[in-house]
Amino acid sequence: MNYILAGGGRLFGLFSHFNESIGGSMKIYKFGGTSLGSAVRIKKVADIIAGAVNDEKLVVVVSAIHRVTDLLLEAATKACGGDGSCRTILDEIDQIHIAVVEELFSGVRLGDVIAAIRSDLSDLHNIVQGVFLLRELSEKSMAVVLSFGERLSARIVSCYLEERLVASFSLDARELIVTDANYADALVDTLASELQIKKRLASFDGVPVVTGFIAAAPDGTITTLGRGGSDYTASILGAALSASEIWIWTDVDGFFSADPKRVRDARILPYVSYSEAMELSHAGARVLHPLAVQPAMKAGIPLLIKNSFNPEAAGTRIEHSTPLERSRTLPVTGLSSINNIVLLNMSGSGMVGVPGIASRLFSCLARHRINIIFISQASSEQSITLAINPSQAAKAKNILEEIFVREMEFRQIDPLVIRRNLAMVAVVGNNMSGHPGVSAQLFETLGKNGINVIAVAQGANEMNISLVIDGHDENKALNCIHESFFLSQRKVHLFIAGTGTIAKSLIGQISAHRINLQKDNDLDLVVCGMANTGKMALNDNGIDLQHWQEALVPRVDHHGIEGYIELIRARNLHNTIFVDCTASASVAESYPGLLLANISVVTANKLGMAGTWPLYRSIREAQRKSNARFLYETNVGAGLPIINTLNDLKNSGDKIISIEGVLSGTLSFIFNELRKGGRFSEIVRRAREAGYTEPDPRDDLSGADFARKFLILGRELGFTLEYSDVACESLVPEEYRGEMGVPEFLDRLSTIDGWYADEIEKAGKEGMTIAYAGEIREGVATIGLKRLPVASPIAGLNGSENMVVFTTERYLATPLVVRGPGAGGEVTAGGVFADILRIASYLI
Ligand code: ASP
Ligand code: MG
Repeated sequence: MNYILAGGGRLFGLFSHFNESIGGSMKIYKFGGTSLGSAVRIKKVADIIAGAVNDEKLVVVVSAIHRVTDLLLEAATKACGGDGSCRTILDEIDQIHIAVVEELFSGVRLGDVIAAIRSDLSDLHNIVQGVFLLRELSEKSMAVVLSFGERLSARIVSCYLEERLVASFSLDARELIVTDANYADALVDTLASELQIKKRLASFDGVPVVTGFIAAAPDGTITTLGRGGSDYTASILGAALSASEIWIWTDVDGFFSADPKRVRDARILPYVSYSEAMELSHAGARVLHPLAVQPAMKAGIPLLIKNSFNPEAAGTRIEHSTPLERSRTLPVTGLSSINNIVLLNMSGSGMVGVPGIASRLFSCLARHRINIIFISQASSEQSITLAINPSQAAKAKNILEEIFVREMEFRQIDPLVIRRNLAMVAVVGNNMSGHPGVSAQLFETLGKNGINVIAVAQGANEMNISLVIDGHDENKALNCIHESFFLSQRKVHLFIAGTGTIAKSLIGQISAHRINLQKDNDLDLVVCGMANTGKMALNDNGIDLQHWQEALVPRVDHHGIEGYIELIRARNLHNTIFVDCTASASVAESYPGLLLANISVVTANKLGMAGTWPLYRSIREAQRKSNARFLYETNVGAGLPIINTLNDLKNSGDKIISIEGVLSGTLSFIFNELRKGGRFSEIVRRAREAGYTEPDPRDDLSGADFARKFLILGRELGFTLEYSDVACESLVPEEYRGEMGVPEFLDRLSTIDGWYADEIEKAGKEGMTIAYAGEIREGVATIGLKRLPVASPIAGLNGSENMVVFTTERYLATPLVVRGPGAGGEVTAGGVFADILRIASYLI
C-alpha cells in the first residue's frame, strides 16, 4: 500500500510497515536545557513522558543540560588559547552530570550509569587536552567537543526512563541526520536524512531519546546544527516520521506578544502561524529556533510550545492559519527584537543604476558566511544598509573594502559607515497585510516618544516591519509599540517634583479620579516618581498613592533635583511627563534638557516662563525640536483658563488689543476691602492673619509675582520682554524696604492709610475708583495703582478673586473676562491635572 504524506506529498510506500507499527499517531517531544537543568527537572520530564507514552508513540529529543554547551564552548576555547583554567571548567561539567546522576539513580544502576557517564567525560577530557596541547581548534574539533552535551543528556534521560520502567533507548542523531561538512552550522541534507530516519525508526519499541543539535557529515564526522539547534532536530524528525504534532518543551508558556522580560504586559499567544513564528524567531524571539519551523510547515505538522515547568498551560500552537487565527482582529501578532546589532551603510553616487553592486555585495558576504539580519535600500539606490552581528562587523568591513576598492578609489562609493549599539525591532503579523494604518500607527507612536528610526524594512508580504533604532531605546520602543497595538488601556508615566501643597492636592486628585480615567478614557496615570530636595520615591510600576509619604526615602546617591532628573532620563520609559510643583529656579532650568530628552513637562512653577529671556528662549527652542509637550496653564491665575484662552484667541486669528487684570489674590483682597472703606494697614494685617499673604506681606505689596505673570502674558503675545521691562510699581514705601522686620513694618504702615483714603475719595468724585492692576498694550506692560471707572469689571471684584480682561478685535465692545480664584492648592492642582490630561490625550 502506498501512503501520501500530508504536507510533503512524497511517496513512501516502502515504509508502510512503520506506519502500521505506530498506529499512525506519534508525537515528537523535545526538551530544552532548562527543562533538564537538575535531577528534579529531569524527574518532571520523565513524568511528562510517562504520562503520554501510554496513549501514543513518542520520540524524545533532548538538548544538553542547562549551561553545558556554553561551558563546553568555553573550555575548548580556553584550551586552544593555552589557558589551563579549561580544566576547572571541565570539572564543573563533570560535576553537573555526576550530581544529577547521583540524585536520579541508586544501587547497581547508579554504578552502571556513573561508569558510562565517566567514560564519556574522560573522552571529553582527553579531547580538550588534545586541543590544549596542539593549541588548535577547528570547527570540526569544536563540533566534537560540543556533541558531548547532548550525548550525555540523552544517555541520562533514557536510563532514567528505564529506571521509571518506561522502556527507552538513547539514540545518537548521527545515525539519523545527514549534513554537509559545515561543522559549526551545518546544512541538512533533507532527503538523505529523511531516508535514514525512516529506516532507523521504521519500527521500535520503547521511547527513543535522540540527541538534539548534532548530526553527521557524509563521512560520518560530527557536525552541529548551530546554537539552539535541537528544535530543528525535533522538527526534522517530526516531518520525516509524519508525526501528528511536534511539542517543544521549554521554560516559558509559549510565544508572547513581546518578550515578557522587557514588556510587563506581554501576553501569551495561543495561536501563531508558521510564517509568523518564523518571522518572530528570526527577529529575536528565543522560544523557538527559526529553522525549526520550516520542516514542520512543509509537512503540515503543528508545532506546540509547552512549558515543562507548567505543563498544564495550553502553550502556543503553531500551524497554518487556523479559523481562530483568521478571526483575530488585531493586525499585529507579536513583536520581537535583537539587541546589539551593527548597521553597515554603503552609499555613493556611483551606485545609482549600476547593476551588479548588490549582487557583489551579498555574494561576497555570503561567501564569508556573514549573516545578514536586515537589508534596506531606498529607490534612489544611493545606499544599501545592512544589519549584522557585532562580532562580524570588522570582518564584513574589511571584505567590502577589498571588493569595492576600485569604486572607493574613484569615489563612486563613499567610505563604509558602521554604526554600533543599535537594536532591531520587528513588528510581525499575517493580518498586517492589506491593513492600512499599521505603519502609520507604529511610526506615530515611536515619533511621539522621541524614538528615532534609523532604518526600516518591510517586504511585500507585509507581515514584518523591521526597524533599526538606538539600542538605548529598545525597551521603550517595545513597550510603546506593544501598548499601542495590544492594549486598550495606555499608560502615562508621571514624575512629580515637589511634595508641597500643590503636589499633595494633585496626588489626592489623581488617586480619586484614576479608576474613572481607566474606565472612561482608557488612560492609566502611573505616578512613577516623587521627590523634594531631600527625599525621593521611584517605582516604574507606580507608587502607592495612598501611602506615598512612606515611600519617600532620603536620597543617598542622587542629590538635588538634577539627580532625580538624571534617574528619570535613565529610565527612558515611554509616555513620560515631568510635573513641576516646586517654585525652584533650578528645576525650571531643567526644562529644556527634559524636553530634548522627549519628556513632556507640566509646570506650576513660573520661573521657567518668567525666567530670563535666554532661559525662556531655550525652553521654546527645545519645545520646537522635541516631540514632547510643555504646558504651564497654572503659571497665570492658577487653574483659570488664561493661557489657553489667549492661545485660542491668537490661533484663531483674533487680534489682541490689550490684556488687563488683577493677578494677585492678596492685592485683589486689599483693594476690594479698601473700596468698601477699610483702612489700608488694617486690611494688610487681616489679610496676613487669614493667610492670604506671604509671611512678609511686602513680597505681595512689591507686585513682583504679579509682574511675572504679566511678563508671561507679554511673552505669550510675542514680545521680547525681560522682567525689568515690566514697569512695576511697588506699594511698599521706599523707606520701609531694607532691613526692617515684619512687625515694625506693619506698625509703620498706618502712616500711609490717609493717603489711600484720599485717593479713593478723589477718584470717586470723577466716577472712578482705584485698584492695583496690570495692563499690557502695544508691547508695554505696566503694573501698579490705576484709576478705573467704577463700572469697570475689575472694580467689581470680591474677596481675593483674580480677573483677566481680554480686549480684542472680536471682543471689543464687551471684552472677554476670565474671573475666579487665582490661587490655592486645589485649583492649582486641578489646572496641573488638566494639563497632564491634555498631554496624555496627545500621547495616546
Ligand atoms: N545545546 C545546544 C545549545 O545550547 C543546542 C540546543 O540547546 O538546542 O545551543
Ligand atoms: Mg491659569
